[in-house]
Amino acid sequence: MKKTMLFLSKYAHFFRKAFVTACYHSLRIMPVYIPDALLPMIKRFNEGAVLENLTGSFATKKEKRTFLTAVEALKKVKVLIEDPKEDKDVINYFRELTGKPYPHLAYFILTGRCNFRCKYCFIKNQEEQEYNEKDMTEETAFKGLDFFCRIIAEDSKQFDLEKTIVFYGGEPLLNWSVLSVLLGRIRAYIKEGKLPRKTTLNMVTNGSLLTSDMAKILKRHNVQVSISIDGDDSATNLNRVYGDGGPVYQDIKRGFRVCKDAGMNIGASCTLSMASISDFNTTMSVLLDECGVTNLGLNLMISGEEKLEEGYSEKAAEFIINAFQVFRERGVYEDRIMRKASAFLENTVWPFDCGATGGNQIVIAPNGDVGICHGFIAERKYFPTSVNDKEFDIRKDRDYEEWSRRSPLNIPECQNCFALGICGGGCPFQAEIKKGSIWALDERFCVHSKMTLEWLIWDLFEKTQET
Ligand code: SF4
Ligand code: SF4
Repeated sequence: MKKTMLFLSKYAHFFRKAFVTACYHSLRIMPVYIPDALLPMIKRFNEGAVLENLTGSFATKKEKRTFLTAVEALKKVKVLIEDPKEDKDVINYFRELTGKPYPHLAYFILTGRCNFRCKYCFIKNQEEQEYNEKDMTEETAFKGLDFFCRIIAEDSKQFDLEKTIVFYGGEPLLNWSVLSVLLGRIRAYIKEGKLPRKTTLNMVTNGSLLTSDMAKILKRHNVQVSISIDGDDSATNLNRVYGDGGPVYQDIKRGFRVCKDAGMNIGASCTLSMASISDFNTTMSVLLDECGVTNLGLNLMISGEEKLEEGYSEKAAEFIINAFQVFRERGVYEDRIMRKASAFLENTVWPFDCGATGGNQIVIAPNGDVGICHGFIAERKYFPTSVNDKEFDIRKDRDYEEWSRRSPLNIPECQNCFALGICGGGCPFQAEIKKGSIWALDERFCVHSKMTLEWLIWDLFEKTQET
């Protein structure tokens, strides 16, 4: 009789709870739940074992049947494999998908100026390093748009995939005159086919300068406005202040009202400080009930020299998970966790968590320099070209090539991590300012990825029990 040799995949991980073990392959992303009592038997495949040699040890036929059913399920999701080479094949397959820079996202840094002096602003904190720019001119904005159109047209297969243009700063509304003409040019380019039909427009603003006339124009151009707010007045005013140190909260709230009165979908960008996290109900009530947001980004604090407070990463991760459960009921879209939830539910590997990684983004500085990540705009690191460069080939650029591979799939420390397939690797800018390299781990994010995955695995289990 033919014997079946089976091995435990090196990407297999086990999560135990009461009488159940979730068996999970970090690149196949399909948990299989087995009785916890079977786990020691499954682990005997670690160095390779013959299935038929193990089945003799069961006292009853029922136990043997349960074991064989579990083995079949684990073979399907590749937790158990017939040849260890399958592990190499699967990781190589996904690694092959990296290293191909192509931008789907363009940031226009319309100005380096800002009327706020948020204490945690990672761009402002580099002011000492000469980030002191004026506004982008109309000419540079148009050249930037042409630059983006030229680069995306170089790959006809990817051209029609959704593109996103983000208006950013500083405070982008301080350069409203250029923003308003740029909107018209973008619409014209969509009509002419220079930009794909699926081009979405976003603006990240502090909201304080929004007027109803601006809101009408932004609405007409379908710009998704995302206003920065961190919770109630005490949480928001703690870190966000005017240049003279004055409180900003009431002016931010007015920005939300202006959007609401204009009938816009309202987005928010919420940086999770300890103050926002510590009062979950208040922060959620401000975002959902008072501001009426329909989509939201919950951001982890970036930290440079200074340390984040003890336990911050765990508390922030827990906040995001709890918030997601509320958002799910209320139909609110939260980007950060949705990316992971979608990867998990669709069993798809999520190689990159920010546009810069994958080489999927260009950032256009106010003076026309073009780079990968706006975090580095002050020092102009990873800014290899400018909007005047008509020869720039993103596929041949060394910076873009490096960033396009910056995925947990290619980071040695990530290979044994259970979150490998859904993580995306966080923020390389954070990794570099903390540890000196974009290839280092973003440890705040590791906590978020791992806690989220564990939660998703058990949330799915509970759902399967309900049906
Ligand atoms: S590396 Fe960090 S700061 Fe830069 S674009 Fe990505 S998430 Fe943003
Ligand atoms: S970045 Fe951290 S959480 Fe993500 S795969 Fe690597 S080790 Fe795991």
